[in-house]
Amino acid sequence: MSKASIILPTYITKQPSTGKEVKFRPFTVKEEKALLLALQEEDITTVTTAIKNTVGVCTSWELDPETTPYYDVEYVFLKIRSKSVGEILDLIGSCECSPTAKTPFSVDIGDTVVKPSPVENINIKIPDTTYTVIARHPSISDFASLAQTNGESATQVVANCITSVFTDDEVMSWDSTEKMEFVESMSPKQQKELAQFLKNMPMTSIPTKYKCKACGKEHVGSLSGFENFFV
Ligand SMILES: [Zn+2]
Repeated sequence: MSKASIILPTYITKQPSTGKEVKFRPFTVKEEKALLLALQEEDITTVTTAIKNTVGVCTSWELDPETTPYYDVEYVFLKIRSKSVGEILDLIGSCECSPTAKTPFSVDIGDTVVKPSPVENINIKIPDTTYTVIARHPSISDFASLAQTNGESATQVVANCITSVFTDDEVMSWDSTEKMEFVESMSPKQQKELAQFLKNMPMTSIPTKYKCKACGKEHVGSLSGFENFFV
């Protein structure tokens, strides 16, 4: 390390799904530039890779963005962003009263919530079989592959999210192809609880509130999605 290096401070946050402490540092100007460039490309793979790298590097890979649930990565990313750039996001609110009604307002990253309350991996018993699966919520990479989706990649994501399959007396050591065959062989009824678990995944969001400057209408909502967290 050269003498000119600045030692970045370390902060601690909690991973929403596990409650575990995660140490992180802010991102640097150079890292921010790379993020902004990636975002401009509007290509989901580029953006996903940039976010995974940022969260990975800033947490010294304590958080593995490849398998960590999406909302955990978003939450930790927002914490990193708040310590790197600032706690406040300045935004412009629109209103249906007029296309020219623009109301500047701001939100506090400290108000970020993850709802509904996340749970760590859960056990799901597959009806009419002796199988139980342990599933995790989709990661950011799972989402990226769903966005470029066809039916097959949706099944692949479900298979990815199965971390373990077992019966009363055996733990399966299946690879991803076997897990996929397992998912594909289920009836809709058998898949129901698993699909429900994935569908009801918690979301990370920041509450928003502003009063339209033109008509006075109160707008209450929330901000979510990485593209909105960069402003
Ligand atoms: Zn208005």
